[in-house]
Amino acid sequence: MTNAIAPQPGILDIALYEGGKSHVAGVSNILKLSSNENPAGPSEKAKEAFARSAHTLHRYPGTDHASLRQAIADVHGLDAARIICGVGSDEIITFLCQAYAGPGDEVLFTEHGFLMYRISALAVGATPVEAPERERMTDVDAILAACTEQTKLVFIANPNNPTGTMISASEMARLAANIPPQAILVIDGAYAEYVQGYDAGANLSEARENVVMTRTFSKIYGLGGLRIGWGYGPKAIIDVLNRIRGPFNLSTTQQEVAEAAVRDQDWVQRCRAENARWRVWLAEALAEIGVPSDTSMANFILARFADAAEAEACDEFLQSQGLIVRRVSSYKLPHCLRITVGDEASCRRVAHAVAQFKGLR
Ligand SMILES: *Cc1c(COP(=O)(O)O)cnc(C)c1O
Repeated sequence: MTNAIAPQPGILDIALYEGGKSHVAGVSNILKLSSNENPAGPSEKAKEAFARSAHTLHRYPGTDHASLRQAIADVHGLDAARIICGVGSDEIITFLCQAYAGPGDEVLFTEHGFLMYRISALAVGATPVEAPERERMTDVDAILAACTEQTKLVFIANPNNPTGTMISASEMARLAANIPPQAILVIDGAYAEYVQGYDAGANLSEARENVVMTRTFSKIYGLGGLRIGWGYGPKAIIDVLNRIRGPFNLSTTQQEVAEAAVRDQDWVQRCRAENARWRVWLAEALAEIGVPSDTSMANFILARFADAAEAEACDEFLQSQGLIVRRVSSYKLPHCLRITVGDEASCRRVAHAVAQFKGLR
């Protein structure tokens, strides 16, 4: 008997996404540095909003996210009508693929790009296409060379995860100006807040008809567990995405907490400064013991080892010490480990453990 029940083409090509680990069997005092979470968590104002939202849990949430969109618009100087909110920026990525790509279409991203781009492309039956990077850096010419008449979406995280590197606003503008006319450039700004003064492509999106920016509350805002993200783009594209967005995609709690969080920019500024300080410290501490990394613009460091075997051995040793970092072989970086910049104690602990591993202390 043959099984007549089969999923859509492409679905079985999806490798299951593995989140950052949070347990090691038999080891206590675990320190999780594998998911780029803010070690300080969310702002007090966000936590207060969370508690307040308990009083209205019996009510359906608003469907247009007007108040949250207005808060985002006020803080970033944007047009609220061109903002769409989603269940993490992952949902915005999903909407873009659902609305603009399908069988026969190509979804382009870079060699060490975020895994969700491939997953979302395959989920809608589109063909994922990878453009090479140059020394773990987005290469605009390589992306343009990989564009075809079938290219519908080009996803670039800037800064990129897991490399931590970023390209300039002028390079991004050159990319937007030269992709084919049927393609949308999506600038994923998940780590934008870690870069002082960076607009994550908001201006480019205002100036052009083919640029969408995605943002998240999961990283600097410390709200990964609550699942809130947003996108900004040309009105015509946002209108399309809203047609496939479930009316109740965000709970009242998600909307109210995100609004309180985005209005507390003092917290964001403090977290950015603290991250920058310990990121530099960690990168230097690792470099001193022979573990180099590219200058990171985000809240993690991509530590490079001699080869995959050394990276794996270091990961095993760190786990034995209760330290969980991220293996990145699925990002074609088997000789690297991605380490989230934690608080001071965490940075000292992980640097000490890597040094022990290297046999230098
Ligand atoms: C963490 C991350 C996101 C955020 O995803 P959410 O769904 O908003 O939690 C998006 N893009 C990249 C590149 C990331 O690293």
